[in-house]
Amino acid sequence: MPSVTNNPELWDAVLSRDASRDGSFVFAVRSTGIYCRPSCPARRPRREQVQFFQLPEAAEQAGFRACRRCRPRRVRHHHPEIELVRRVCAAIEENDEQPLTLEKLSASTGLSAHHLQRTFKEVMGITPRQYAESRRLTQFKANVKSGASVTAAMYDAGYGSSRGLYEKSSAHLGMTPATYGRGGRGMRIIYTIADCSLGRLLVAATERGVCSVALGDSDIELVKGLFAEYPNASIDSKDTAISPSLNLWLNQVLEHLNRKTPRIDLPLDIRATAFQWRVWDELRQIPLGATRSYQQIANAIGKPKAVRAVARACASNHAALVIPCHRVVREDKTLGGYRWGLERKRKLLDAEERALTS
Ligand SMILES: [Zn+2]
Repeated sequence: MPSVTNNPELWDAVLSRDASRDGSFVFAVRSTGIYCRPSCPARRPRREQVQFFQLPEAAEQAGFRACRRCRPRRVRHHHPEIELVRRVCAAIEENDEQPLTLEKLSASTGLSAHHLQRTFKEVMGITPRQYAESRRLTQFKANVKSGASVTAAMYDAGYGSSRGLYEKSSAHLGMTPATYGRGGRGMRIIYTIADCSLGRLLVAATERGVCSVALGDSDIELVKGLFAEYPNASIDSKDTAISPSLNLWLNQVLEHLNRKTPRIDLPLDIRATAFQWRVWDELRQIPLGATRSYQQIANAIGKPKAVRAVARACASNHAALVIPCHRVVREDKTLGGYRWGLERKRKLLDAEERALTS
């Protein structure tokens, strides 16, 4: 197994942009936090800023990001054992839903568990299990930083329960996930409630955009739901500064419901994970009158195995109608779930189908 240390020959390959060495190692630059393949055309850093890794995955593990010019992740590795470790890394990354056991990894690669473990550790410096855990924690931290709720961040990072996370968190985060999640800026929210064809309609917004659209039977239930959704925000029903936009946005939702507009394009101020946004963006592509299955959405975002996570992202939608999660149904065309009541989902889909045919 080739070793990557402070071999001067590696630095020579970097200085001469030796393309024949692409795939045998990458070099990372501490000052920029970026790693490259040897042939990258970018300007050369100072030698003391540089660190070498056998694998892109190992560089990322150490906190570096892939260069956008030379795309070091796209090179195949020369060495078969290292290429194998890459495949294991990829399998772990793809299966963040159900963590892979060493036995499953071993079966899928045809290597003995012992050999697999040893080879992986030699290249990556950690075991496959530690790699999977560390990937989840990194993902979780990124999700929380982007403003997602701790629960959503947790599920998106592949933690099946909060226990798994809390067990790891004190060691890795240095604080509990809940404390970490409160780091975000406080939100100031105002809301308004109106009648619509589906019952009562709540629209809530910050000065940046709509943060909640909900349907319900009673105003109290809707307001309670809003407070539960944003427990740390300051919430009010009167705020003269935001009111004009709020009324405008409420009217846009109502007009859409009355079939005067085919789609609603409102500014949204919703904190969510990158995964949730990918799902929601996909939902917004579903045209009026059409439906998709959870599996189709999972395929469309390039995560065919993440059907359950897609269903959770639909269920955690904060903006009814605006993000049309009601247009996602089960494979067998039964309705599946709807956060604001199955009866409403059925009515909405019927009305949209009628709007198309009339
Ligand atoms: Zn580069």
